[in-house]
Amino acid sequence: MPTAYFTHTDCLDHITPDGHPEQVARLRVIEQALADADLARFNAPLGTVEQATLCHPADYVSKIQAACPDQGTISLDGDTHVCQGSYTAAMRGVGGICAAVDTVLDGTAQNALCATRPPGHHAETQTPMGFCLFGTVAIGAKYAMEMRGLSRVVIVDFDVHHGNGTQDLVWNDPRIMFASSQQMPLWPGSGYASETGAHDNVINLPLDPNATGADLMDAYTNDIFPRLAAHKPDMLFISAGFDAHADDPLANLNFTTDEFTQITEMLCAFADTHCGGRVVSTLEGGYDLPALADSVAAHVNVLRSHAK
Ligand SMILES: [Zn+2]
Repeated sequence: MPTAYFTHTDCLDHITPDGHPEQVARLRVIEQALADADLARFNAPLGTVEQATLCHPADYVSKIQAACPDQGTISLDGDTHVCQGSYTAAMRGVGGICAAVDTVLDGTAQNALCATRPPGHHAETQTPMGFCLFGTVAIGAKYAMEMRGLSRVVIVDFDVHHGNGTQDLVWNDPRIMFASSQQMPLWPGSGYASETGAHDNVINLPLDPNATGADLMDAYTNDIFPRLAAHKPDMLFISAGFDAHADDPLANLNFTTDEFTQITEMLCAFADTHCGGRVVSTLEGGYDLPALADSVAAHVNVLRSHAK
């Protein structure tokens, strides 16, 4: 079976102010890096309000839509901006991850990557933040259970920033176990090990600014994977942010592209053993364009190698 790849040109119409790190060019360099990759390519369908409201109140969804101006950009906070195309772009992320779940569960693909923007893991139940509008990965996880009948899933977030939005959206859901590693101290400031979810279903792994990819992989092996395995998941979701890379301008960690290969390899091996190889990954951060392109290509190579 192939690896499925979901994206959409509408995601190029989410235009941020000049100099903003979460820029249109991120998707363009990913497209170039994957131009020759052996992938089953799909246009991400437009998400529905029904899908978005798996995680957000309906009035929040309509508020985001109404906030998008006819021209120019407006700021929802110091980091998070919307333009005319932002709602549709974000809804391609929602629809893309739900379609990716369908593709994997229907046996059309072994695993999938959604390369959409804006990213999602900082969006809380009623608060857009950190470049994010809708909690894409949490929506995918809830869709897999509410609409496709899965019993339990896990989400692993290796973006350098804490997935505070995902944590907020899954906090009360014992069917979802969420593991997030993040540099600390770093924005948004949450993600302490003491934040464990209402059902002991959240695992936070704060990383010292000097931590290496090897440190993260040791923590997966010794602490995180045993707990994720005990959850007996049907599917693994990955919030794939590549801003822990040494070249990234937004953080201090010094992961290498090879370490993203190794991290992805560990995650796919976990999924092979515990989830029938079912993996749905979605793009989060990563702001140095060459490092992002190389890291996504490395991530995809591993997904491909596990697609049987
Ligand atoms: Zn990030």
